[in-house]
Amino acid sequence: MGFEGFIAEARRLLGDRVYVEGDIIDRYSRDWWPLAILLEKMGLWGFRAKAVLFPESVEEVSGLVRLAGEHGVCIIPYGGGSSVTGATSPREGCVILSLSRLNRILEFSEEDLIVTVEAGALLREVELWLNERGYTLRYTPQSFDLASVGGSIATGGVGQYTTGYGGIEDVVVNLEVVLPTGEVVWARSVTTPRSAMGPDIKSLFIASEGSLGIITKATLRVIPRPEYVLKGAFELPSFQLGLRVVRELLLRGFKPAIARVSDDREALLRFDRSRPVLLLSYEGWDSDLVSLLWSRTARLVESMGGVYVGEELFDRWLDQRFKYLDEMKLLDSLNLWFETIDIATTWSKAYKAYTGVREGLERLGNVVVMCHASHFYLTGVALYFTIVYEKNPELYWRIVDTALEQAVRAGATLSHHHGIGLLRAKWVDVDPGQSRVVLERVKKALDPRGVLKPIW
Ligand SMILES: Cc1cc2nc3c(=O)[nH]c(=O)nc-3n(C[C@H](O)[C@H](O)[C@H](O)COP(=O)(O)OP(=O)(O)OC[C@H]3O[C@@H](n4cnc5c(N)ncnc54)[C@H](O)[C@@H]3O)c2cc1C
Repeated sequence: MGFEGFIAEARRLLGDRVYVEGDIIDRYSRDWWPLAILLEKMGLWGFRAKAVLFPESVEEVSGLVRLAGEHGVCIIPYGGGSSVTGATSPREGCVILSLSRLNRILEFSEEDLIVTVEAGALLREVELWLNERGYTLRYTPQSFDLASVGGSIATGGVGQYTTGYGGIEDVVVNLEVVLPTGEVVWARSVTTPRSAMGPDIKSLFIASEGSLGIITKATLRVIPRPEYVLKGAFELPSFQLGLRVVRELLLRGFKPAIARVSDDREALLRFDRSRPVLLLSYEGWDSDLVSLLWSRTARLVESMGGVYVGEELFDRWLDQRFKYLDEMKLLDSLNLWFETIDIATTWSKAYKAYTGVREGLERLGNVVVMCHASHFYLTGVALYFTIVYEKNPELYWRIVDTALEQAVRAGATLSHHHGIGLLRAKWVDVDPGQSRVVLERVKKALDPRGVLKPIW
């Protein structure tokens, strides 16, 4: 029984793919939560992985989960480690199980437009493999180079094409999961676009953050790569108008592949423009149709007060969109740090949420707040705030609390895609609110011994 017994048996199963010391432990002791990175730089990050395990097959994952149950050890699944909420942070009594060696692409059907991959495969690898064959997932979060398929599903992520193609829930068709008992199940015994044979079990694991099961395989829908793309930028009199413009586009059925509205502060810092900026792109397989969509869209945006400023700003965003490391280095050199807050709300509350969070944060002093909206739905929008502040862990929690309090006041969800993690654990009474008991009971039923990481 206990940790030592678990490690001894894990070694019998995995051989030398079990680590209890060395660089690997350092690497897996935090994820990309900005606070964790800051505290680590300051020598204050207190979490340390006790062990890191590298299974190579679903049988090994299942075997480890069974052993963990027998020895009273808890397991934290780890994909790409790009969580920005501390969701993979080591917890008392837990070991880290890396999915990185379950990274194979298993099956691809051009006719059915589905690909089945192991959950540790990085999004980038799957996308490049598909691109070579003329297909795409159209799922590219900014963490494209870091995030795994399983981690993206377990977080409930979104990519830069959400407005056109939906979030990860629209990409996932079926899932294989190792339950906390070690049993291996597929969410559906057959892979079909939809089924009414009982509730949609795969939804239980989307955004479950590794607490209900370990995703080991995923079947994902693909699309042929669009052949025609038209893109451009508009300057706008206000952020509010930008939100209204995209709402209007969606209502008329002019659904862009990408839509992104930057407020005045972000427009200044990212695009050297003094007014808010709207980026749009349309794509498809019929050039006439794409051109028609673009021209109707441009006419509508201009009729609402937007001014077309060409493609250059869109191209600049495309070029910069994965260069977050440069920005982090720059902030670090200036003794500054950052946090990002991703909320979502309905149209009637969106502007109130925007002003509430921005003004609430600005009242704290010593912070710069910028915002963009880049995930649009028929009924509402996500707002993404980037907050730059002087490196100070105390100020950090005031920033987070203020932003989330304002979001609650405005009737927003407290995370659109980053998830709960350690960052939002204390907010679950508010959001999801009452239904947290349902999740807690599901957790208890599936995982009575607490073999997988706690639900909050
Ligand atoms: C620079 C940067 C940009 C980002 N941009 C975006 C963005 O555009 N959109 C977005 O949605 N997110 C973004 N994120 C956040 C992060 O990338 C996503 O949350 C991503 O989905 C996490 O995937 P991962 O494989 O790194 O998961 P990890 O960080 O490894 O894990 C995240 C959570 O999922 C669990 N988990 C991991 N793998 C599995 C599995 N196989 N089975 C069960 N549970 C598992 C973990 O226990 C943890 O709770 C960004 C992060 C960074 C650092």
